[in-house]
Amino acid sequence: MQALRVLVYDTHSYDRTFLDRANAGRHQLDYTTAQLDPQTAALAQGYDAVCLFVNDKADAAAIARLAAAGVRLIAQRSTGFNNIDLAAAAQHGITAMRVGYYSPYAVAEFAVGLLQTLNRRIHRAYNRTREFNFRLAGLLGHDIHGRTVGVVGTGKIGAIFARIMHGFGCPLLAYDVRENPECVALGATYVSLEELLRRSDIISLHVPLMPQTHHLINATTLALTRPGVILINTSRGGLIDTEALIASIQSGHLGAVALDVYEEEEGKFFRDLSDTVIDDEVLARLMTFPNVLVTSHQAFFTHEAMTTIAETTITNLSDFAAGRTNENLLQPG
Ligand code: NAD
Repeated sequence: MQALRVLVYDTHSYDRTFLDRANAGRHQLDYTTAQLDPQTAALAQGYDAVCLFVNDKADAAAIARLAAAGVRLIAQRSTGFNNIDLAAAAQHGITAMRVGYYSPYAVAEFAVGLLQTLNRRIHRAYNRTREFNFRLAGLLGHDIHGRTVGVVGTGKIGAIFARIMHGFGCPLLAYDVRENPECVALGATYVSLEELLRRSDIISLHVPLMPQTHHLINATTLALTRPGVILINTSRGGLIDTEALIASIQSGHLGAVALDVYEEEEGKFFRDLSDTVIDDEVLARLMTFPNVLVTSHQAFFTHEAMTTIAETTITNLSDFAAGRTNENLLQPG
């Protein structure tokens, strides 16, 4: 098997640790902290492949430059691939592969963690007790048991989230373009998105971001939800119109919101900006609400998930180098 020269974009120390361990010297992996865009694509001159993460922007312009630099493979080290223009990649003869499967438990369990944190105000309790404020006023939550949970997208992650919530004793509503028999077996009722929004006390988003799901949660759909509803998004920021979300929080309609993803996260999430003046009024506004919890796209971040992501990425590189394809190949359309 031919060893590939691979430039890994948007690298953090943990990426390097897991990728080097999985690679064991098979391919030449070079690392850059730069995120891919049409300018930084030039860094890939002479490389066979680039390895990308969720906020590397492989748009048509960047892909044209990668092709001119000699790149033949994009190895995406995540499940979501909405950052890649697959039609442009195909046009330039660049193959794209992703990590189709890695611990969906990591994301589903994190979504449950966010839900319980918001519901029982654990984020506020943590801050209070560190300052020896042991009062309970303001920390009142609800039993989760018996609350209706709406799961939007019942693929791998949504189904596990549904199973956990079933364990809590929650009636389940589901919305998807196709029914998952695992969720039906749990007793989930498939309904329209509108009905799910009208009837759920808790809503968790697990659909991919695509033109059909962009701003699925907007002023119109938010108006359908129950007052006091808890909304969890661990999927992709673009599923929610953030300005409409803020208006609904301000009006007192939404009970609480957890966002592990944010539509303008690129260039912010995965970075330490604690020493800078934040230039995003929407994000700054979100941070002022006591019933909003923002985490920086960390739902996937477990030892198990990082190990599988790295091992699958190396398998994708090796299969490509050997002229083989596998189930992680991405096709346009
Ligand atoms: P999956 O492909 O197994 O499931 C997605 C589900 O969405 C499928 O059942 C599919 O039928 C459904 N769907 C697709 N288009 C739809 C539409 N227009 N309307 C309704 N349903 C539709 O994916 P998964 O592994 O469960 O991951 C779900 C999403 O989670 C990913 O797309 C990714 O964006 C996100 N994710 C986030 C993190 C994180 O760290 N926060 C990590 C991994 C994945």
